[in-house]
Amino acid sequence: MLNEMITGTLQLIPKSIVYRVARRYIAGETLSDAVREVKALNALGATATMDVLGEFVKTHAQAVAATNMALQMLDAIEEHKLTSGISVKLTSLGLDIDENFCYTNLRSIVKSASARERFVRIDMENSPYTSRTLELYKRLRKDGFENTGVVLQSRLRRSAADLMSLVEFKAKVRICKGIYIEPPAIAYQSSEEIRENYKKLLIFLFEHKMHVAIATHDDSLVAFAKDWISSIDKSTYEFQMLLGVREALRDSLLKEGYKVRVYVPFGKDWYGYSMRRLKENPEIAAYVFKAMFS
Ligand SMILES: Cc1cc2nc3c(=O)[nH]c(=O)nc-3n(C[C@H](O)[C@H](O)[C@H](O)COP(=O)(O)OP(=O)(O)OC[C@H]3O[C@@H](n4cnc5c(N)ncnc54)[C@H](O)[C@@H]3O)c2cc1C
Repeated sequence: MLNEMITGTLQLIPKSIVYRVARRYIAGETLSDAVREVKALNALGATATMDVLGEFVKTHAQAVAATNMALQMLDAIEEHKLTSGISVKLTSLGLDIDENFCYTNLRSIVKSASARERFVRIDMENSPYTSRTLELYKRLRKDGFENTGVVLQSRLRRSAADLMSLVEFKAKVRICKGIYIEPPAIAYQSSEEIRENYKKLLIFLFEHKMHVAIATHDDSLVAFAKDWISSIDKSTYEFQMLLGVREALRDSLLKEGYKVRVYVPFGKDWYGYSMRRLKENPEIAAYVFKAMFS
């Protein structure tokens, strides 16, 4: 009840307090902060995917800046010999401005990553972008780039059909529940339905021997995945978790010998991402009160 009240009024809470609570979910504001975080994760035995925060950009200049930052991330990964790929959001590369312009930006990032044998994951945003995101992914593959993968959200009813369309590409797919609230006409609403669809998508990927990134902090889905992967090739899956979320689960997966990749976001544009994370935190009320009164 208190959590719901806090979640509903989160927008009214001063940014400085939100930052204090949300700090655990982001590496910091600069690329050096992200490098430091990834080094620490690598030392623990985890791999990473770095992401510069920012989305829904409206100007060419902003999209070019995001593209350049992605290229700088790849430089930094190389320079510091990090075990990390990167994740990108297409609305930060100009998808709302012009699809071809966005593709040119995306292609330059994937090309640079390919030369360095690094992987670029294209994050999935809210439903108005689903088809276009998958199309640009397929365009990259038709252009010969293999070092890239997509994300499907088990919340969306269309994901099973989308997954089928990815079989011919032998796509590398991250499965997540989906962070964006979507209407009942296109999305499952109950956590049980979202979880069941998650399992179906996973089974499809396992059976088709497609590489799957199991992105969740949900104990029941982790247990379900573990049962399946005990009998499949280790190189075809990995667990993925978000920075600052359920670190004990991350550590126990590492200890059991599973490959775990941590999503490491950074940048000045931390507000939107952090708000989404905070709304998912079951202890949000306690965190917010602590930050307000400390
Ligand atoms: C690596 C990675 C990449 C992702 N990429 C995308 C993407 O491209 N597009 C997209 O829409 N979504 C993405 N997501 C977000 C995802 O869709 C979910 O919103 C998020 O992971 C929570 O879902 P869950 O499976 O962990 O289940 P939940 O039921 O939300 O969480 C399971 C348990 O984890 C804990 N938990 C979850 N979140 C938090 C939190 N913020 N703070 C503290 N505890 C928490 C709670 O104990 C909760 O009971 C990604 C998630 C991960 C892990």
